[in-house]
Amino acid sequence: MSSTAIVVGAGNAGAELALQLREQGWSGDIVLYGEESRLPYHRPPLSKTFMAGALAADQLAIRPQAAYDRAQVRLVPGAHVQAIDPAAHRITLADGAVAEYAVLALTTGARPRRLALPGLDPQRPGNNLHVLRTLDDAQAIRARCQPGSRLVVVGAGYIGLELAASATALGARVTVLEALPRVLARVTGIEFAAFIEQTHRAAGVDLRLGIRLERAECAADGSVCALVCADGSRIECDLVVAGIGVEPNVELARDAGLAIDNGIVVDELARTSATDVVAAGDCTNHPSALYGRNIRLESVPNALEQARTAAATLAGKARPYRQVPWFWSDQFDLKTKSVGLLTGHDHTVLRGDPSTRSFAVFYLQGERILAVDTVNNSPDFLAAKRIVAEDIRIPAAVLGDPTQALKDHLPAPRAAGG
Ligand SMILES: Cc1cc2nc3c(=O)[nH]c(=O)nc-3n(C[C@H](O)[C@H](O)[C@H](O)COP(=O)(O)OP(=O)(O)OC[C@H]3O[C@@H](n4cnc5c(N)ncnc54)[C@H](O)[C@@H]3O)c2cc1C
Repeated sequence: MSSTAIVVGAGNAGAELALQLREQGWSGDIVLYGEESRLPYHRPPLSKTFMAGALAADQLAIRPQAAYDRAQVRLVPGAHVQAIDPAAHRITLADGAVAEYAVLALTTGARPRRLALPGLDPQRPGNNLHVLRTLDDAQAIRARCQPGSRLVVVGAGYIGLELAASATALGARVTVLEALPRVLARVTGIEFAAFIEQTHRAAGVDLRLGIRLERAECAADGSVCALVCADGSRIECDLVVAGIGVEPNVELARDAGLAIDNGIVVDELARTSATDVVAAGDCTNHPSALYGRNIRLESVPNALEQARTAAATLAGKARPYRQVPWFWSDQFDLKTKSVGLLTGHDHTVLRGDPSTRSFAVFYLQGERILAVDTVNNSPDFLAAKRIVAEDIRIPAAVLGDPTQALKDHLPAPRAAGG
C-alpha cells in the first residue's frame, strides 16, 4: 500500500499543508501538485505592492524551492489534477498519469467569477477584460495600467478597491462601478464603508454606487471600448477588471461524490466526507464554533491555519480548527485589519476620529462584540482579535474612548489548552 501523501493545489494552503505535514512527522513521500507553472506565491500583493510596482514577481514566492527540497516535498508545478478516486486512493492527472496515495489533501482554492453582459462574447474574448487572481492576471493588468489609461473596475469589494488604489498611484484614471449602494457591502458596516469611499474619491477615483450594468460595447477584435449602465451613462475604457467575487474550486471533490455545500464540506479537523481525504483553504466550508454555523472564508490566515489543522489530522494528531476570522487590506495610506463576521449586529461603537485616519468600529449585538474594523491601528486590532475570539465584554464607554487602552481591559490570557 502507498505511503504517499498527495496535496492537490499549490497555493497558500497547499504549500503550508505539505511543509507542515513533514514537520508533523509524516515519513512517506509528499507530493504537491499545482496547475500554475511557478512556486507557490503570495496573492495579496497582486492588488497591492506588486500592482503598484513596489514588489517584483520574483519576490512573491511563499518559500524558496530549497524549503521544499529540505522538507523532501516534491513540488510538481504545471500539473492539473483531473480526477480523484477516494475508493481506490488514486488521482489522475490531465496527461493521463495515475498516482496512488495513502492520504489526500484538497487545497484547490477558488476562481474569480467572470463578467457576463450583453455585448461580451465569451467565444471571442478581447484582451482588455480581466479578472485578478493569478500572477499572470496581475502582470497583464499592470502592463496596461499606464499614466492616463482608463481603467474600469467592476465591483467594490476588497480586491477591486485595492486595485483601484494601486492603479491610481500608477497614474491611471480609475472608475469603480458597484451594484450595491455602498462599497464592501458584503463584509463591513456603513461607517467604515463611508470612510473608504471618501478616501477613494479624495484620491480621484470615480466611484459610482448603485450602478446596474446594461451592456458592453466592443471593438471588432472583441476588446471592450465602453460599459453602458441602466441609468444611460456610458464609460469609455482601455481596460476592464471584474472583481465580482470568487467561486470555490469544488469540481474534483464533487465529481468524486464528496459532500459539497458552498465549498468542500469539512469538519473541525479538516476531514472531508471521504476517508483519508482532508481539505483546507478557500475551497472549504467549515464549522465555526464561534458563529454556530458553517462558513467559507477567503483569506490567507484561514488558509494557513486550516492547512496546519489538516496536516496534523493526516499525521494522526488532533488540532481542531477554531480560529477567529480576520482579514487585512491596504489602500492608499490605509492599513485596515478586520476581525469577526458581520452577522446580525444591532449597533456600532466608533472608537477614535476617522479624520485622524486611525480609528476602529465595533459591531455589537447587545453587549457581544461580533466584529471589529480597524484603520491604521494595530494595538486595537490585536485587542479586538482576543475580544471577538473569547467573547470578552467591554463597556461601550471604554470602547468609544480611545484614551483608554483596550489591552488594559482584557483578562489575563488563558493558559494553553485551557
Ligand atoms: C488580488 C488578491 C488579493 C488578496 N488580498 C488578500 C489580503 O489582503 N488578505 C487576505 O487574507 N487574503 C487576501 N486574498 C485572498 C487570499 O489570497 C486567498 O484567500 C488565499 O490565497 C487562499 O489560499 P488557497 O491555497 O486556499 O487557494 P489559492 O491561493 O487559490 O490556491 C489554490 C491553487 O490550487 C490550484 N488548483 C486548483 N485546482 C487544481 C487542480 N485540479 N490541479 C492542480 N492545481 C489546482 C490553483 O491553480 C491555485 O494555484 C487576496 C486574493 C487575491 C487574488
